[in-house]
Amino acid sequence: MTRFVLTCMLLLCCSCVPTPSTAPAAARGASKAPWAPSDPSLPHDFLAPIVDHHQHLLSPALATLWNEKLTAASLPPDVAELVVALEGSWNNEGMLAELYEEDSVLMAPPSWEYLTHGRAAIAARLAHLFRASYKLAPASVHTDGAAGYLVLYLERPRGGVELPFAEALLMIQRDGDHKWRVATEALRVPGPEVYSAFEAKDLLTLLDQAGIRRAVVLSAAYAWSDKGHAPWPDEYARVRAENDWSAQQVAQFPARLVAFCGISPIRDYALEEVRRCASELHARGVKMHFSNSGVELANPEHLRAVQAVFAEANRLKLALVVHLQTEKVAYGAADAQIFLNEVLPKAPDIVVQIAHMAGSGPGWNDEAFEVYADAVGKGDPRTARLYFDVATCAEEQSYSRLVRLAQRIRQVGINRILYGSDASFGNRATPRQEWATFQGYVPLSQAELAAIASNVAPYLSN
Ligand SMILES: [Zn+2]
Repeated sequence: MTRFVLTCMLLLCCSCVPTPSTAPAAARGASKAPWAPSDPSLPHDFLAPIVDHHQHLLSPALATLWNEKLTAASLPPDVAELVVALEGSWNNEGMLAELYEEDSVLMAPPSWEYLTHGRAAIAARLAHLFRASYKLAPASVHTDGAAGYLVLYLERPRGGVELPFAEALLMIQRDGDHKWRVATEALRVPGPEVYSAFEAKDLLTLLDQAGIRRAVVLSAAYAWSDKGHAPWPDEYARVRAENDWSAQQVAQFPARLVAFCGISPIRDYALEEVRRCASELHARGVKMHFSNSGVELANPEHLRAVQAVFAEANRLKLALVVHLQTEKVAYGAADAQIFLNEVLPKAPDIVVQIAHMAGSGPGWNDEAFEVYADAVGKGDPRTARLYFDVATCAEEQSYSRLVRLAQRIRQVGINRILYGSDASFGNRATPRQEWATFQGYVPLSQAELAAIASNVAPYLSN
């Protein structure tokens, strides 16, 4: 309660008050060149951000890596019999009923709120759920005596390849007649995301649809040191190849795109790659993703490594984009204090862009953000070149949270807010959709939205 009152007081003091002494140099209007969005569906007076400060491409190599989770399992012959039968009777009520237990339960779209009980009702529901046949590809299977489970992908051909459009978890049991039947089934549509390469030209198409002139392309090379994956013996070679690919893609459209490298700051090659990004790839900056890389600033070793990267980037005049939120449940103000006190001072001369307003998106992290907003409000010199991108911050938020988001944006100063969408490949929203979400949901005035749309990070203007 005390915290809430304090926060409100701060907001009353600071909202809408741009503090010229602490606001960074005007970050707008780097390019005044006339711009005609190539999408004819955009009205001529459509308000569009000049720059999308948070974008990604997807290399063929990373698409393959991310599709690896689509595992294939080989079935014991008696379970395979059940799967073949399920596949063959997809729209046949009578045949389907034979494959479920009398008291089976089904959870399936579009009515998640109620279960379907009993083999007859389940067969009737399933037989009319899909309009075309599909293949069932086993992803995982386990049996123990007369019970077991199965994970199945429901696949149809797309671009000449069978790809999942839905997935199902089945609990199965073997009856007195030695036949496996389904005891419970949970069906999910859509199924797992399937990735394909997303190149610079694809991004330009989406930017054009949104009337966005330029984008900052953040290499996802740190995905090759993802803490969730066993280390690659040739990890640094993969990181280099990824940063090279991203830089080459961006170089095809120098008037529209700008490249940032990606690294994990806690790898022993981090500084070498930062230097290579500056000298060989002519990157404008470096992106780090603390969650993906498993970086915790409370860990002294990690802190030292992060400080070294900040110092090196500062020496080389590379900007930094940092996804600070980690997977630690307690992530928040304490982490922000360490960042403010121990890390930011190592890079006094360069722009530091905190991604997703100190959160992970969707949404932002209000506790961590408050630390930065307070420092900015006090004219803390460490925040002189600190910016925040709003990528996916307005997504999936309640109205009261959106009101708070608008207050926070005003508190820190509109000049420090960089528009970013993080929207591009796969099942994500497009940049046009993401801007519609931000513009339509966050209760900012038209003038404030126009100001955010016209903000351009200083690292783009030199
Ligand atoms: Zn991102």
